[in-house]
Formats: sequence, structure tokens, C-alpha cells
Amino acid sequence: MKQAIADFFWGWDKEKRKYHWASWDKLSLRYDEGGIGVRKLEDICTSLQIKQWWIFRSKQTFWGQFLRAKYCQRAHPVAKKLDTEQSLIWNFMMKNKGIAETQIKWKINSGNSSFWWDDWLGEGPLASYCTHVTSLNTTKISQFLVGGTWNETMVRQWVPPLLVPKILSFPIHYQEQIPDEAIWKLTVDGLFSCSSAWEIIRHKGTKSIINKGIWHRHLPFKISFLAWRALRNKLPTNEKITSFGKEAAHCSSCYRTGEDNIDHIFVSGHFANNIWSFFSAAAGIQHDYIPINMLLLRWRRQEHKSEVQNLLNQLLPVIIIWNLWKNRCAAKYGAKQSSTARVKFLIFKDTTHLLNTAFPYIHWANNWNDLYKMVEKCRQETMVRIVKWEKPCQPLLKLNTDGSALSNPGQIGGGGILRDHLGRMIYAFAIPLGTGTNN
Ligand SMILES: [Zn+2]
Repeated sequence: MKQAIADFFWGWDKEKRKYHWASWDKLSLRYDEGGIGVRKLEDICTSLQIKQWWIFRSKQTFWGQFLRAKYCQRAHPVAKKLDTEQSLIWNFMMKNKGIAETQIKWKINSGNSSFWWDDWLGEGPLASYCTHVTSLNTTKISQFLVGGTWNETMVRQWVPPLLVPKILSFPIHYQEQIPDEAIWKLTVDGLFSCSSAWEIIRHKGTKSIINKGIWHRHLPFKISFLAWRALRNKLPTNEKITSFGKEAAHCSSCYRTGEDNIDHIFVSGHFANNIWSFFSAAAGIQHDYIPINMLLLRWRRQEHKSEVQNLLNQLLPVIIIWNLWKNRCAAKYGAKQSSTARVKFLIFKDTTHLLNTAFPYIHWANNWNDLYKMVEKCRQETMVRIVKWEKPCQPLLKLNTDGSALSNPGQIGGGGILRDHLGRMIYAFAIPLGTGTNN
């Protein structure tokens, strides 16, 4: 499957598979970690299996009841061991149970969840600290409670001494009839999301500012991807294809002889140098012979007076790289003559097209120097509006209320104030509401 996707991505040439310039594992990293932002199919499958486990554990579904009846009639799902004899779906879920369970926390309401196997304390299942608890143990949290608080004698009797203080000080907001709730730890709202699951299972690379800089939602994929390949020396330059047994050829862009390699095509060659110098001058950036990644970094780190300028400093180098490559290929394989004037024009055209997409209401200048000056001067406008409390008309009173959460989920509370037509306080209140989410 992976092979098929990779083949499709790199393409076929006359029934022959094309050379794969990078492994699918490297491609499937996040942008900022040096990938091209695709997710590996196997990782997507795993996150879906984790999702199935989450639904099985957190919701009352017919399918969940069926699984429980079939596989967990005696043992608690957390304690259940993998058995290869059992169905495929169940086994896939079981395989990822370990990952899923560490991200699930239980909020106690009526205490119907398992005291020993459900992680409500945030320390993992308590059964893992005891030898006397078996997978068949069905003790509920409510059995350790008396009148909505901990039954201290019982806790001391059954729980390892080290955990006792933590349990006794663990706040309970007992709510009869309301089942305990599962909270997915990785999201703000406590609900499962596939991307949060994907984030913990995927293979990770090292982050770098240049990696991220070549991708932008306003840049077409092919343009960013070309820069990605240039940065990794994964382009069919003459220097590169001689290693496949082809004959070396000279640079096609310049009017003089030179090598056809990444550095020459994109930075140090006569042609590239002419283009960079032209665009760098207006931006006040010095252009000299540094490796291509350093060049991108220099543009990215360039000081900016406006956010638009910042955006342009990030995207222009990527557009330049794209057009340098297009020109080189047109001169090498097509009938076109290499031309600095044409390339400058095309870079300018691509740039204004991009700015028009991002800021459709601005009429941009029609030459590079004016455009850059304009971009420097762009300011974001902020509107100031006074928000004020107004007194109610007699005999009405006004009640203002609000709620807050210290963290999410975390300690929550609400409060309010009742005032009359002169703004005098009639009544005010504040109530802690226990633990919850900010919505
Ligand atoms: Zn050249």
C-alpha cells in the first residue's frame, strides 16, 4: 500500500517506476520537521483504532455493549490481555489500548467507574500498584465513598500507604445518577480528536525554521516542494544524474560555462546571482555566496516593519527558487533561451499574484522597488471601541454574571452581581463549581 502511494507520488515513466527521491517515512513528517505534511496511512489507521477504543470506553453504544459482552464479561477492559484467537477488530483495538488508556482520565460523578482499573487519580490504574487486585475485580469507586466523600477506613485498608494521602485529598463532587465521564487528556475540551492521537504515535523529526518557512497556504504545493527538494539536493541536476551513469553537462542558465549543481543553479551561478541581487537590493538584504539553506534563513530572519513584509520575506525566496528552476529546465530541455528579464518578470508576477490572493483589497504597485516600499509601509488597523456598563432604568435591577476556569479542565466557578438604577450593589455571589471544562 505504502509502495503504491509512493509510486503514484513520484510518477511512472514508460511503464517503469520513477526514481524515488526521498523515502515515504521522511516525506510523512510535519512541515516544520522537514516533511511535506502528509500523514502515513498506517498512522491514520492506528489513530482510528485508538478512536474506536475511546468510543468503546467513553460512550454507551450498542457496538460497545456487544464487545463488552463478547470479550470483557469477566475481566475489566483495561485488565484484558491480548488473545490472538479473538476477532481482528478487537485485536487491533487491544494493540493500541496501552497508548489510548494513558490518555484517558475519569472524572468522578456518581463513582460508577472501576476503582482499581479506571485511571481517575491520574496515576494510572491503581491495580498496577497492588498485587491483590485481579482482572476480575469489579469494585466501583462509589463503594469507597460514604455520603459523597471518601471512606477513610476503607481507603486505608485496601490502598498502598503511599497513595492514601493523594486519594484522601482528591476532591470529589459527588453527583448521584450522573455516570462518571471519560476525559481525553490531549485536547482542551477533553474530547477525542484523531489529530491529537496521531501526534503521539507518529514518528517525529527535528524542527527547523527553514523547513516551515517554505510552506505557506498561499503557495502552491509544487512550488514549496521544489524548494524542499532543492534544500535536500534531491533534484535531477547534471551533477546528480552523473551518478546514474549519465554524461555530465554544463549549466544551461548562464551564458558562460559552469557546473549544473544545486549551489550553482540556485545561488552562486552567474544567472542566479543576477536575480537574487536584483530582489535583495530593494529588500536591503545582502546577497553573496552562501549555501541555499543559509540564504533562506537570512531572508527569514530579516527585520520587518510590517507583517506583509514579513510574509514577503518568507515567500519571495521560495518563488525565486521556483523560477530559477523553471528557467533552467526551459533552457535545458525546451527551446527557450535563458533570460534574466523574463525570470524577473515572472517572479514579480508570482509575487503580486500571491499578495492579491492574501490581500485582495489592496492595489499593489507594478514594479518591484515600489512594491517593496509599499509592503514595508503596510499597517494593520486596529479599531478601538469603548465597552461600558450602563445603569438599568428604575425600577429594574441589572444582574451580571460570569464563570471562569483556572485551567481547562480545572477548578471552575461562577459569580454575579445585582445592581440598581444608581449602580448600587444589592447582592453579589461567587460559587466554586468544582472541576470542569471552560465551556
Ligand atoms: Zn550557470
